[in-house]
Amino acid sequence: MAEAERMCISYNNIHKLCQKVAKYILARNERPDIIIAITGGGMIPARIIRSFLKVKGQKNIPIQAIGLSLYEDLGLKNSVETIGKEVIRTQWLDFGALNQHFDSLIGKKILIVDEVDDTRTTLHYAVSELEKEVVEQQNLLNRTNEDTVFSIFVLHNKDKPKKAELPDSMINSGRYIAAQTVPDMWLCYPWDAEDIEEHTEQAKAQGND
Ligand code: 5GP
Repeated sequence: MAEAERMCISYNNIHKLCQKVAKYILARNERPDIIIAITGGGMIPARIIRSFLKVKGQKNIPIQAIGLSLYEDLGLKNSVETIGKEVIRTQWLDFGALNQHFDSLIGKKILIVDEVDDTRTTLHYAVSELEKEVVEQQNLLNRTNEDTVFSIFVLHNKDKPKKAELPDSMINSGRYIAAQTVPDMWLCYPWDAEDIEEHTEQAKAQGND
């Protein structure tokens, strides 16, 4: 791919984007009770933003990981033509750890973190499946009157037509948070770089440091 179609992002840049978004979240008084990182791209931003969301005297926010892959990325043939790409769950919530150390997700503020919103397929899947999970628990525990609030944080939202939607309630209330909206080009993240020095120099040259 030609240089102009690729955008390099440095670790420093990611650190600062996480800091900016944490300030926004704290200013809105929406510090999450739990962070759910979509592996692998959401893990580093999730870990960084957790530090910026730390409040003196409060416990560290727990992070759980869920693994989602697109059929296409796994090299599998897509069987569901009508909805385009299909998502495969490769890892899901650890209910043992949740129950032991945290309680359930019911009534909590939940921040879902990923690195990039491209076609929106993955985020749509994550939100709708997590919402279902909460409704199931509510019915099971007879706690149907508690509100669970989902937010999303991505480093980058690609400005392009999306293949799936997120709840209007989330978008309209400022709970879909993209640190940056970028043109539709390939984003190179530092964790994939073979030569991190060269990568960082390119990021700097593109103003992403
Ligand atoms: P979706 O199309 O579901 O929004 O994005 C699916 C996944 O594709 C993302 O979580 C990310 O892992 C990967 N992806 C999409 N666009 C890019 C990109 O520009 N750079 C990188 N490194 N990964 C991307």
